[in-house]
Amino acid sequence: MGTARKTLSLVVVCLVVLLIATGAAFGKTPKRVMIVVMDQMQPGYAQQYDMKNVLWLQNHGANFKKAYVGDMASETVVSHNVMVSGLFPKNMGWSDEAIRDVDNVLGYGYNAIVTVGDLGTADYVKLINHYGPYPKLGDYLKAKFPGTIVANVGEKGYQVESMAANSSDWWVRMGSKKNTADLTAPFSPSSVPWTGTYRGAGGNPPSYIKNDPRFLVSVGNNSYPNDYYNTKVDSPAWMYPEDGRYVEGVYPGHESGDIWVADAALKIMDNEKWSGLWVTFSAIDKIGHMWGGGAVDTLANYQWDPNSIFREVHMPWAAKNADDQLGRLIKKLKQKGQFDDTLIVVTADHGSTYGGKGFYGTNELDAASASTPGVSGGWYAGTWWPSYDTKKPNVPNTTDGPDALQPLMATGLVEFSYQSTAIESWLKDPTAENMATCAGVMATLPGVIATYGKNGDHYDLTWASDSMTDAEDHWWSRHGQELVDTMAFEGSGDVVGLLADQTLYAAYGDHGGAQKDVQRIPMAFYMPGISHAKSKAGFRLVDITPTVLGAMGIKPTTAMDGKAYHLPIPGAK
Ligand SMILES: [Zn+2]
Repeated sequence: MGTARKTLSLVVVCLVVLLIATGAAFGKTPKRVMIVVMDQMQPGYAQQYDMKNVLWLQNHGANFKKAYVGDMASETVVSHNVMVSGLFPKNMGWSDEAIRDVDNVLGYGYNAIVTVGDLGTADYVKLINHYGPYPKLGDYLKAKFPGTIVANVGEKGYQVESMAANSSDWWVRMGSKKNTADLTAPFSPSSVPWTGTYRGAGGNPPSYIKNDPRFLVSVGNNSYPNDYYNTKVDSPAWMYPEDGRYVEGVYPGHESGDIWVADAALKIMDNEKWSGLWVTFSAIDKIGHMWGGGAVDTLANYQWDPNSIFREVHMPWAAKNADDQLGRLIKKLKQKGQFDDTLIVVTADHGSTYGGKGFYGTNELDAASASTPGVSGGWYAGTWWPSYDTKKPNVPNTTDGPDALQPLMATGLVEFSYQSTAIESWLKDPTAENMATCAGVMATLPGVIATYGKNGDHYDLTWASDSMTDAEDHWWSRHGQELVDTMAFEGSGDVVGLLADQTLYAAYGDHGGAQKDVQRIPMAFYMPGISHAKSKAGFRLVDITPTVLGAMGIKPTTAMDGKAYHLPIPGAK
């Protein structure tokens, strides 16, 4: 009896201590935000590929199981700025992979069609200032926590640079591996190929990353003279092959891709007092484009050997690796004593689908991107800037686009068209008559389920197919108009065609449109003390910034398109 009572009181004491400890954690409001974007991650990947860290955050934090992108175009260069601005694309300055630069903000001429993915930070800043200026999440964080910095890291130029503009202090783009840096030679930052370590000449990396030989690749004795992993010869991957940017490779101590990204983020965490860190892992996206994503990129379909280096260009490996990198970021937060007051957001910039029911791209090497002369591109058709041809900087690019698009191009009315899992066309002269003509032709193209014409700040439905499946009709009826309207501004496409499920025109796996599969995304918020909550609310990317500001007690200074969801963190507004 005496022993039992003693045990009981010990339990009570332990409980009290636990409550006090938890109470301390409860009292904290976040002082830092870390947004981890798994580019092109479908919500189902967490279970499918046993992404333990994602699952843990979802199962312990606020998990929005019905989250969706909530805007168009569901593209990387659009979504990353939606996340940190709280604005719909129509209010951001760009709402797709291309814009009509009505006011010649970018210097290619009035009304020039400019592909947004080819821009750098300075260009995004110009657009933000012209169509705003508007504050971004990083600006709010730095105002609330003076003396802190905001940084972002990823592999793709436009992803990192658009998200950084005009708010990040550091932005780091991890580039392709080029096997040219000799680490046995005396290391000199000026003599190593800068463009080999960080793709392009852009980015703004801090010196402790820029000058760190860890981010170089040794020639060594590797038996892989290139980093294509057969993706230049294997269909359907060869339409958009791996270029050495997204997989970790075979160089011990110099693993790249998502590992590079995590390593750079860890260095920033070690060297800076930060309040915002945006980290994007992109291997999932690349592999989804190449093979079609998790539904089809399976061991059974492609017979890859999990012990072979070729595992690195398939989804089971990429998803697990991205999750491992998230785990390293969490571990670093704990090591630095920052885990308790850091709000972690795990999401994706869009989902993905594949050409299971209708594929209208060109199944040839490099056919998805329009950059190969002589190959009819998938994504681009018509005329656009900036020029790929550096010898003729004053001549715009032109390409025919995919065969299936030719009836539309044959009208002679289209200046440029972008097609992914939707078709968006900019007309040479967007009169009501020309728009009606093009919308009529667009409705006859394979896979098109609905067409829209731009009318000022919204789009008007011009036609809808009566052969949608029940599932397509269900989703389209609820979200089609809502999603298309988020693009409408003076720079957006004049005529839009939404495509059926599993239907696309460029790479075998893709996103960009309004389909449920490309719109559904994972969305979880976590910090210690948060109550686990599952929500069926239709949380959108545009809601991230208002929600984070609410959790941190920061009052927005301008109106946003997103809404603030209450997170179950005690003390959160
Ligand atoms: Zn993306």
